[in-house]
Amino acid sequence: MTDTLVAFDDVLASYDPALGLEVHVELNTNTKMFCGCPAVFGGEPNTQVCPTCLGLPGAMPVVNAKAIESAIRIGLALNCEIAEWCRFARKNYFYPDMPKNFQTSQYDEPIAFDGWMDVEVDGETFRVEIERAHMEEDTGKSLHVGGSTGRIHGADHSLVDYNRAGIPLIEIVTKPIQGAGEKAPAVARAYVSQLRDLIVALGVSEARMDQGNLRADVNLSLAPKGSGVLGTRTETKNVNSFRSVERAVRYEMQRHAGILDEGGSILQETRHWHEDTGITTSGREKSDAEDYRYFPEPDLVPVAPSREWVEQLRGTLPENPTQKRARLQADWGYTDLEMRDVIASGSIGLIEETVAAGATPQAARKWWLSELGRRANDAGVDITDLGVTPAQVAAVQALVDGGTLNDKLARQVFDGLLAGEGTPEEIVAARGLAIVSDDGALSAAVDNAIAANPDVADKIRDGKVAAAGALIGEVMKEMRGQADAGRVRELILEKLT
Ligand code: ZN
Ligand code: MN
Repeated sequence: MTDTLVAFDDVLASYDPALGLEVHVELNTNTKMFCGCPAVFGGEPNTQVCPTCLGLPGAMPVVNAKAIESAIRIGLALNCEIAEWCRFARKNYFYPDMPKNFQTSQYDEPIAFDGWMDVEVDGETFRVEIERAHMEEDTGKSLHVGGSTGRIHGADHSLVDYNRAGIPLIEIVTKPIQGAGEKAPAVARAYVSQLRDLIVALGVSEARMDQGNLRADVNLSLAPKGSGVLGTRTETKNVNSFRSVERAVRYEMQRHAGILDEGGSILQETRHWHEDTGITTSGREKSDAEDYRYFPEPDLVPVAPSREWVEQLRGTLPENPTQKRARLQADWGYTDLEMRDVIASGSIGLIEETVAAGATPQAARKWWLSELGRRANDAGVDITDLGVTPAQVAAVQALVDGGTLNDKLARQVFDGLLAGEGTPEEIVAARGLAIVSDDGALSAAVDNAIAANPDVADKIRDGKVAAAGALIGEVMKEMRGQADAGRVRELILEKLT
């Protein structure tokens, strides 16, 4: 069955979109949420487990204090109230990768609630209200073997790795975001992108979407234009890049409108996002909260952070993001338009690190926005996941500043970096990319160019120095762009005038 999609502009003529975002952040604590198992990524399957995170009978959980600290700092950074007293709750459902058959989460008593975050889209500020940020544990991971897609359909058996079971998560849930209109897809993307920047600044998670440290579920509904009500929503699960968040919202807006225009009604369900085709497909019918039979976790004591501790943690917060953007713009000397492009590209943190590694703000912006931004776009990944680091960009720019490379050769160094060929210096050496400024090689190339273009040479002899450009071009061509153009010009003038 194919979905009927309505053109995006036509959706907006008839409907108002409402967004809701649920973001799971995997904390970077040393140990798991309720046991002492290591919480590091990448161990051999089922080597980082114990009776507690495997849910064996009689095992008792103990809360990770560092995870509570991170939860409170996230809550404060999102301008939330911090609960004076709250509990964990059991969320009951069956999943093979959830060995206890319930997830220890929080229900009606989250650690943080009623906050907000301002996000900037095209120079306009949208206030996103935060409903809650609660603590919970991650599930294990299922690996479906034997099929071609890695999905359960077509697989002949499945394996379960419980290393991830019990890793601390913070789930951040927005209130419905209304009034964004045509900017709804961009607001969703900007929210997730700026939330990630905040999480990185707090230092509480690796926050890599491509590795699942930060996972976004995107809720969308449409209501008749101007009605002010909320329509039935769908929830697109685990959208794993900023770009996909934007695309998924756009797609769901077009799909919902197709159903509503034909007099149909939206089924409240989860949807799967397909990165390759850019569509969503039906998941499971969404349960209401009561289906999970939440009840307070009897094995854990309530969490009651003292006000002194909360205030102490407030003192550890990074600079407010809005003020920080204004300060960086002033420090970097960017125009409003330049800054807007930087924010939209999601590269503000990358530029900050590149400048810290020694590049000028203009050079950092140039590489991230033009060259690397284009490559990320071509590869269909977020710029933060491209695989080039700020330190590498600063090193390439240092080679340009030092006269080893020009911008054209630097682009070839980025090819090498993306192909994993080593450091910028190693790539320059291995690919033979350095600019030639040695007079012996340059002089021979200049002589060849003069011999091949006697008419141009005559013009220069007659005093038309501007004609030297044509000979410089010849030399550059012969030396595959690696000649030192300034020195070539000097040699031409020395020989002909
Ligand atoms: Zn454990
Ligand atoms: Mn959750």
